Amino acid sequence: MSGSGKGILKGLGITLKHFIETYTVDRKEGKNRYFTEEGILSRRTPDTKGVFTVQYPEEKAPLPEAFRYIPFLVYDVGEDGNRDIRCTSCGICAKVCPPQCIWITRRTDEETGKPMKEPSQFMIDVDICMNCGLCAEYCPFEAIRMDHDYEIANVDRMKHHIFDLEKLLKPASYYKAIRPVQVEREEAEKREKEAKKEAARAAAAAAKAKKDAENNS
Ligand code: SF4
Ligand code: SF4
Repeated sequence: MSGSGKGILKGLGITLKHFIETYTVDRKEGKNRYFTEEGILSRRTPDTKGVFTVQYPEEKAPLPEAFRYIPFLVYDVGEDGNRDIRCTSCGICAKVCPPQCIWITRRTDEETGKPMKEPSQFMIDVDICMNCGLCAEYCPFEAIRMDHDYEIANVDRMKHHIFDLEKLLKPASYYKAIRPVQVEREEAEKREKEAKKEAARAAAAAAKAKKDAENNS
């Protein structure tokens, strides 16, 4: 038998072994092997026996925090209960987006006609988005972040795959739920920045007080 023939037989043997082991392990470990997070994690270990694939869509593999798919826009909930959209419509994300799939329209004040720091429309063509995450990296206001939701398949591209402002907006609580470590890091950075600013303010005030005292003496 040729070398490739032996290789095929060896491969089929491994497949058969896994097939048989699936039943023996299932008999031993019962239902906990399927449709539970614990079961999925156990089947994903290197020493698992039998079937190790995840039975998608009935089962879903747990996603790592850094997983990224389509971006979404973050809003905070204000004291009045209204949405406080973080995006200032600065346009940086649209500029850095490699395939140019972001379109933003800046809101204008109805009375004065002056541009405001918020979008009236924000659109992403999710079929063109290549999930690179650059928009989220460059946004100076933590206003756009990468989502975990990958189940967006649809039959009507124009109707469902041009995400608009309403579709893109998600609360900060959702952002924190899918990326707790990143949010914690960003909050720590903010605290550190604020502490530095406060120290600089205090130093400036002390210097001014000293100068005033010297001038008055
Ligand atoms: S999402 Fe961020 S980078 Fe993009 S326009 Fe809004 S504030 Fe600017
Ligand atoms: S993830 Fe990349 S491709 Fe998608 S909108 Fe952001 S910058 Fe553009």
